[in-house]
Amino acid sequence: MNWDELRKRIKGSVVTATDPEFAAVKAAMVWNEVKPDRSPDVIVTVNNDDDVVEAINFARKNGLKVVAHGGGHTWCGLAVRNGGMTIDLSKLTESTIDKAKRTASIQPVISNRELARRLGEYDLAFPIGHCPTVKASGYLLSGGMSWNLSEWGPACFSVLAIELVTADGKKVKASTTEHPDLFWAARGCGPGMFAVATRFHLQCYPLPKFIMTSTYFYSLDHLREVVDEVTALGWKMPSMVELSIFLLKAPPELADQCKKNNGKLCMVTAVAFAHTKEEGVAALAILEQGAMVKTCLAKNLNEASNFEKLSDVSGVAWPENHRNLCENQCSKAKPSDILMALRDKIIDAPSAKSVIVFCQSTGQHNLVETREDVAFSMEAQSYGGSWAIWEKPEDDAANLKWQDEVIAIIKPFTNKHYIGETDIVQDNARVQESYTPEKWQKLEKIRAKYDPDGLFFGYLGGTVSSKR
Ligand SMILES: Cc1cc2nc3c(=O)[nH]c(=O)nc-3n(C[C@H](O)[C@H](O)[C@H](O)COP(=O)(O)OP(=O)(O)OC[C@H]3O[C@@H](n4cnc5c(N)ncnc54)[C@H](O)[C@@H]3O)c2cc1C
Repeated sequence: MNWDELRKRIKGSVVTATDPEFAAVKAAMVWNEVKPDRSPDVIVTVNNDDDVVEAINFARKNGLKVVAHGGGHTWCGLAVRNGGMTIDLSKLTESTIDKAKRTASIQPVISNRELARRLGEYDLAFPIGHCPTVKASGYLLSGGMSWNLSEWGPACFSVLAIELVTADGKKVKASTTEHPDLFWAARGCGPGMFAVATRFHLQCYPLPKFIMTSTYFYSLDHLREVVDEVTALGWKMPSMVELSIFLLKAPPELADQCKKNNGKLCMVTAVAFAHTKEEGVAALAILEQGAMVKTCLAKNLNEASNFEKLSDVSGVAWPENHRNLCENQCSKAKPSDILMALRDKIIDAPSAKSVIVFCQSTGQHNLVETREDVAFSMEAQSYGGSWAIWEKPEDDAANLKWQDEVIAIIKPFTNKHYIGETDIVQDNARVQESYTPEKWQKLEKIRAKYDPDGLFFGYLGGTVSSKR
């Protein structure tokens, strides 16, 4: 392979499997400390869209398969495949914001925290994801299970257009009027994407100035009653409230009271994305209407927040430099049935950092609703899952076993997997189980049109596309 030819043609850098820095560059392609047992032939870090075109043309000419690397945050390290070329987009971080039109045009590798910060300067907001360091790139392509989901919908509903480089090395813009099929696919296709997205055009919203949080801590002894009450009250709350039920380790001040349950408890959080203080206080007060609220171990009401603080809190729950396994789906089952089935698993979790979370419906409609004009297919009244989070490699076996057991319990409750956070390496069937059969067929037809020779790796494993 004449790598120097590629080096001459691009402004960015080319690191091949025989270069001394390769191992470090490859490790940096995956946020999770559980690194995949896979290795590309070359990692091309691009400086601009023209570099993407050159890299794709070089790969096609030389028989290399291609995958894009956005932020490296897929839990199972999907930006690293066996052989072929990883096109690293991490230098594409620019944005322009139009306050009057409430739109933004962003390159793909801007983090949730940074996007919220940039938009906040213009009194605007976008449905960003929950964790601070996750980048827009794969998040938007997967659908985007965002903050304020019930009000704003999945992030891909607020994408107005996407600029991409296709397998034939052409730059195209996809929107409802240009390449509408590609635009449909790119809003939900996630890690199976068959073109490189280099820019997203976003619809933004007025910044909610009074983001407020109420948090309740409950003993796991009353889990069913608490979940039934909280989810019933959720239907009475306005859709600008994000309502979540966590099973996790108790904060230090409540550890003694939770000894019987191995130091674990149930935490209910309600985040109001309000525009006035009164609106936020009234929305959160609905959680005080139940009878179980009197049994809570502790509560913090109406705490002032903002996207920066929300990012901080999520960053603590899903810390950097840890080993992780994740499974995330949506469910039409009764939330208390799901959480009761998982109750003993959180008590027995080998790592105290592991967490189970399900977000619940508010606003008199299902929390996750899909639309015909996007590939994203999730639809249900609650979504969430389990995250095994630990530090030491010697604890891998125990945590893998735990996660497997949790997944086996959740499986019967699963309506659809979330393609952005399901472990398709462990079980490739989850790829198709993330879509309706009709949408899956349509997706594969569009893939065949735009990538007829299978230049892009597509989903990992034994799906239609990777068999090509
Ligand atoms: C701590 C943490 C918290 C998370 N929280 C949320 C959350 O709140 N909501 C949510 O929806 N998701 C969440 N996720 C999941 C995350 O959004 C997805 O895993 C997403 O795919 C990560 O994007 P990435 O650019 O980092 O992907 P990468 O790992 O870089 O890439 C993964 C795959 O995506 C495709 N891809 C990525 N970028 C491009 C591009 N520009 N063009 C073409 N293909 C591309 C490629 O096929 C690649 O194989 C979280 C993940 C982590 C680790």
